Amino acid sequence: MAKIGMTTPIVEMDGDEMTRILWQWIKEDLLLPYIDLKTEYYDLGLPNRDATDDGVTAEAANANKKYGVGVKCATITPNAQRVEEYGLKQMWKSPNGTIRRILDGTVFRAPILAKGITPYIPGWKQPIVLARHAYGDVYSGVETRTDAGDKAYLLVEDGQGNVKKKLLVQDFAKGGGIVQSVHNLDKSIQSFARSCFNYALDVKMPLWFATKDTISKTYDHRFKDIFAEIYAAEYKDRFEKAGIEYMYTLIDDAVARVVRSEGGILWACKNYDGDVMSDMVATAYGSLGLMTSVLVSPDGKYEFEAAHGTVTRHYYKYRNGEETSTNSVATIFAWTGALAKRGELDGNAALVDFAKKLERATVRTIEEGEMTGDLVSLFRSEGVAAKKLESRAFLRAVARRLEETM
Ligand code: NAP
Ligand code: MG
Repeated sequence: MAKIGMTTPIVEMDGDEMTRILWQWIKEDLLLPYIDLKTEYYDLGLPNRDATDDGVTAEAANANKKYGVGVKCATITPNAQRVEEYGLKQMWKSPNGTIRRILDGTVFRAPILAKGITPYIPGWKQPIVLARHAYGDVYSGVETRTDAGDKAYLLVEDGQGNVKKKLLVQDFAKGGGIVQSVHNLDKSIQSFARSCFNYALDVKMPLWFATKDTISKTYDHRFKDIFAEIYAAEYKDRFEKAGIEYMYTLIDDAVARVVRSEGGILWACKNYDGDVMSDMVATAYGSLGLMTSVLVSPDGKYEFEAAHGTVTRHYYKYRNGEETSTNSVATIFAWTGALAKRGELDGNAALVDFAKKLERATVRTIEEGEMTGDLVSLFRSEGVAAKKLESRAFLRAVARRLEETM
């Protein structure tokens, strides 16, 4: 059989530790036998980031911007211990942060569902995709402690330094306490809104957005208004045509509705809500190894990856020559997401079809009882016993099923 051709390259960003090992094996066992794989390769492994003074990260992000579709392996975000372990010139910034800044994107996290892996909330039959606004609010807040007798104000100056507004936050006459100030930008909220509306159309899922605008009548209300204005002006018709709805509600109501729902929702959250709720949703679906992540820019550039890290503990075992049972499913789905999107943009139906077949073969492998160790204790399926496979054996089990369908 002739291999599937590609016209435009995918931007391939290699990474670190156990996921770097899985990356190579996924290509060897699942992709290269079937695809004439065209990628523009960037090595984002920590040694090369250090050697290039982290220049390679920005280059990769700019290539992703140019070609539109990238796939990224998990990477180490260095801390003091890593600086020592790798003898780094400095504590380089998070590659994901750099890429997010350059693409100005929103991160969507989606669980992969397989029969037998039941979510902790058993009513969830379809994925809940979570979109987190990744700018501002308490993550760039300014805060301080105050003493008894202090008065705290919110002060706004114009560009010439003239006081425009001075609002009393609190008179601490009766005792000291704490005070905090947060901000956001219209432009960032607009980008977030467009990314969410575009992604909802892309995956044909209804979009829910929630804040606490009844309490925060200016701040949260601004989020609500920006979403409503952009929806009415740019997306309402397209949503109606696609048969999906946009719903705004209060955050506490959204939480209650999400828990009661069957899933199948794209849930847009403000920064803090998204931080908290994405961990809740990810945990409730079962395993980090089944959670994918895609960064989408408002002008439609995509970067696919797994939501988990480099699985350091497994890598140290691997380095000692021991077998590991590391879940490669989210990384496989990062590749299939990128291949399907590339195929869609290039009108390459064979590539889209291959991506769907690989996804199906991967899920079938789990459903037929062959899985990595993290899933074994979660698996319950009548008449099917869970068998734990080592990392590479799992990929070969997927490859066998893929081969049957090709
Ligand atoms: P992690 O790599 O996600 O792993 C934490 C633990 O979760 C693992 O030790 C393992 O538990 C389990 N786990 C995660 N993914 C798994 C998989 N695919 N298969 C099986 N088990 C899995 O998080 P971390 O240990 O906190 O971080 C390690 C490195 O990854 C750090 O240097 C961090 O900077 C980086 N990181 C990168 C990204 C990214 O690039 N997007 C995201 C997060 C973290 P057991 O050990 O119990 O088996
Ligand atoms: Mg968090």
